[in-house]
Amino acid sequence: MTSLSESFVASIAHSLNWAHIPCVLWGQYLLILHGVPSVVGSIDFIVPDDCPGAGLKVLSQLKSLTPCPDDKTCPSSSSNRCTPAPAVHVHVEASEFTVGLYPRADTLWFLPPLDGSLLFPKKSKLPRNTSSRQTILFSRPGDQVGDRASSRRAETKLLP
Ligand SMILES: [Zn+2]
Repeated sequence: MTSLSESFVASIAHSLNWAHIPCVLWGQYLLILHGVPSVVGSIDFIVPDDCPGAGLKVLSQLKSLTPCPDDKTCPSSSSNRCTPAPAVHVHVEASEFTVGLYPRADTLWFLPPLDGSLLFPKKSKLPRNTSSRQTILFSRPGDQVGDRASSRRAETKLLP
Protein backbone atom coordinates (compact mmCIF):
# COMPACT_ATOMS: atom_id res chain seq x y z
CA MET A 1 0.00 0.00 0.00
CA THR A 2 1.28 3.44 -0.90
CA SER A 3 1.90 5.84 1.97
CA LEU A 4 0.39 9.31 1.73
CA SER A 5 3.63 10.76 3.03
CA GLU A 6 4.75 14.29 2.30
CA SER A 7 7.47 12.89 0.06
CA PHE A 8 4.86 11.00 -1.95
CA VAL A 9 2.79 14.18 -2.36
CA ALA A 10 5.94 16.14 -3.25
CA SER A 11 6.86 13.54 -5.88
CA ILE A 12 3.49 14.11 -7.56
CA ALA A 13 4.05 17.88 -7.58
CA HIS A 14 7.56 17.40 -8.98
CA SER A 15 6.22 15.18 -11.75
CA LEU A 16 3.70 17.85 -12.73
CA ASN A 17 6.45 20.47 -12.59
CA TRP A 18 8.77 18.39 -14.79
CA ALA A 19 5.98 18.39 -17.38
CA HIS A 20 5.94 22.22 -17.06
CA ILE A 21 2.64 22.20 -15.20
CA PRO A 22 2.76 24.55 -12.21
CA CYS A 23 0.64 23.31 -9.33
CA VAL A 24 -0.51 24.38 -5.89
CA LEU A 25 -1.45 21.89 -3.21
CA TRP A 26 -5.07 22.25 -2.20
CA GLY A 27 -7.78 20.65 -0.12
CA GLN A 28 -7.54 18.18 2.73
CA TYR A 29 -3.84 17.42 2.41
CA LEU A 30 -3.01 21.12 2.47
CA LEU A 31 -4.91 21.40 5.76
CA ILE A 32 -2.91 18.52 7.19
CA LEU A 33 0.38 20.23 6.28
CA HIS A 34 -0.81 23.35 8.09
CA GLY A 35 -1.66 21.35 11.19
CA VAL A 36 -5.41 21.36 10.78
CA PRO A 37 -6.74 17.94 11.75
CA SER A 38 -8.52 16.59 8.70
CA VAL A 39 -9.65 13.35 7.22
CA VAL A 40 -7.73 12.93 4.00
CA GLY A 41 -9.49 11.21 1.14
CA SER A 42 -7.64 12.88 -1.65
CA ILE A 43 -4.53 14.78 -2.60
CA ASP A 44 -5.62 17.75 -4.64
CA PHE A 45 -3.72 20.26 -6.73
CA ILE A 46 -4.71 23.45 -8.47
CA VAL A 47 -3.30 23.68 -11.99
CA PRO A 48 -3.61 26.26 -14.77
CA ASP A 49 -7.00 26.25 -16.42
CA ASP A 50 -5.72 24.60 -19.60
CA CYS A 51 -3.71 21.87 -17.86
CA PRO A 52 -6.01 19.26 -16.29
CA GLY A 53 -5.83 17.07 -19.40
CA ALA A 54 -2.05 17.27 -19.62
CA GLY A 55 -1.84 16.76 -15.87
CA LEU A 56 -3.94 13.61 -16.12
CA LYS A 57 -1.47 12.21 -18.64
CA VAL A 58 1.38 12.90 -16.21
CA LEU A 59 -0.44 11.34 -13.26
CA SER A 60 -1.40 8.30 -15.31
CA GLN A 61 2.26 7.53 -15.94
CA LEU A 62 3.26 7.58 -12.28
CA LYS A 63 3.89 4.39 -10.39
CA SER A 64 1.38 3.99 -7.56
CA LEU A 65 -1.36 5.90 -9.40
CA THR A 66 -3.98 4.21 -11.53
CA PRO A 67 -6.71 5.57 -13.81
CA CYS A 68 -10.23 5.84 -12.44
CA PRO A 69 -11.93 2.50 -13.09
CA ASP A 70 -15.33 4.09 -13.76
CA ASP A 71 -15.64 7.86 -13.81
CA LYS A 72 -19.45 7.65 -14.02
CA THR A 73 -19.87 5.78 -10.73
CA CYS A 74 -16.76 6.91 -8.86
CA PRO A 75 -17.57 8.92 -5.69
CA SER A 76 -14.68 11.27 -6.52
CA SER A 77 -16.45 12.54 -9.63
CA SER A 78 -20.01 12.33 -8.31
CA SER A 79 -22.25 15.38 -8.54
CA ASN A 80 -23.53 14.42 -5.06
CA ARG A 81 -20.24 15.35 -3.41
CA CYS A 82 -20.41 18.05 -0.76
CA THR A 83 -17.45 19.77 -2.45
CA PRO A 84 -16.83 20.35 -6.16
CA ALA A 85 -15.40 17.37 -8.00
CA PRO A 86 -11.93 17.64 -9.51
CA ALA A 87 -11.74 18.15 -13.26
CA VAL A 88 -9.72 14.94 -13.46
CA HIS A 89 -8.53 12.40 -10.95
CA VAL A 90 -6.64 9.15 -10.57
CA HIS A 91 -6.56 6.63 -7.74
CA VAL A 92 -3.69 5.82 -5.43
CA GLU A 93 -2.95 2.16 -6.02
CA ALA A 94 -4.28 -0.28 -3.42
CA SER A 95 -6.09 2.42 -1.45
CA GLU A 96 -9.26 4.48 -1.49
CA PHE A 97 -7.37 7.74 -1.92
CA THR A 98 -7.42 9.82 -5.06
CA VAL A 99 -5.29 12.52 -6.61
CA GLY A 100 -7.37 15.29 -8.15
CA LEU A 101 -6.58 18.26 -10.36
CA TYR A 102 -8.70 21.41 -10.24
CA PRO A 103 -8.51 24.31 -12.70
CA ARG A 104 -7.46 27.57 -11.03
CA ALA A 105 -10.56 29.39 -12.27
CA ASP A 106 -12.79 26.90 -10.42
CA THR A 107 -11.02 27.26 -7.08
CA LEU A 108 -8.46 30.05 -6.65
CA TRP A 109 -9.98 32.38 -9.24
CA PHE A 110 -8.94 35.43 -7.20
CA LEU A 111 -5.22 34.70 -7.60
CA PRO A 112 -3.12 35.62 -10.64
CA PRO A 113 -2.81 32.85 -13.22
CA LEU A 114 -0.37 30.12 -12.24
CA ASP A 115 2.76 30.47 -14.32
CA GLY A 116 6.24 29.05 -14.71
CA SER A 117 7.47 30.93 -11.65
CA LEU A 118 5.82 28.20 -9.57
CA LEU A 119 7.80 25.42 -11.24
CA PHE A 120 10.33 23.96 -8.81
CA PRO A 121 9.87 26.67 -6.19
CA LYS A 122 12.49 27.18 -3.52
CA LYS A 123 11.34 28.69 -0.29
CA SER A 124 13.65 31.67 -0.68
CA LYS A 125 12.50 32.28 -4.23
CA LEU A 126 8.74 31.94 -4.05
CA PRO A 127 6.89 34.47 -6.19
CA ARG A 128 6.10 37.67 -4.35
CA ASN A 129 2.57 38.31 -3.23
CA THR A 130 1.67 41.25 -5.43
CA SER A 131 -1.68 41.94 -3.85
CA SER A 132 -1.88 44.90 -1.52
CA ARG A 133 -2.99 44.50 2.07
CA GLN A 134 -6.71 44.81 1.89
CA THR A 135 -9.93 43.27 3.02
CA ILE A 136 -11.92 41.69 0.28
CA LEU A 137 -15.02 39.61 0.06
CA PHE A 138 -14.68 36.34 -1.79
CA SER A 139 -17.59 34.93 -3.65
CA ARG A 140 -17.68 31.82 -5.71
CA PRO A 141 -18.99 31.67 -9.23
CA GLY A 142 -22.76 31.31 -8.97
CA ASP A 143 -23.11 33.35 -5.76
CA GLN A 144 -25.53 36.20 -6.05
CA VAL A 145 -23.88 39.60 -5.91
CA GLY A 146 -24.82 41.43 -2.73
CA ASP A 147 -25.87 38.30 -0.89
CA ARG A 148 -23.85 39.02 2.26
CA ALA A 149 -25.59 36.27 4.20
CA SER A 150 -24.29 33.63 1.88
CA SER A 151 -22.53 30.90 3.82
CA ARG A 152 -20.17 30.47 0.91
CA ARG A 153 -18.55 33.86 1.43
CA ALA A 154 -15.82 34.72 3.79
CA GLU A 155 -14.20 37.99 4.65
CA THR A 156 -10.50 37.49 4.52
CA LYS A 157 -7.48 39.71 5.00
CA LEU A 158 -4.68 39.31 2.54
CA LEU A 159 -1.23 39.54 3.99
CA PRO A 160 1.53 41.45 2.19
ZN1 LIG B 1 -12.36 7.55 -9.66
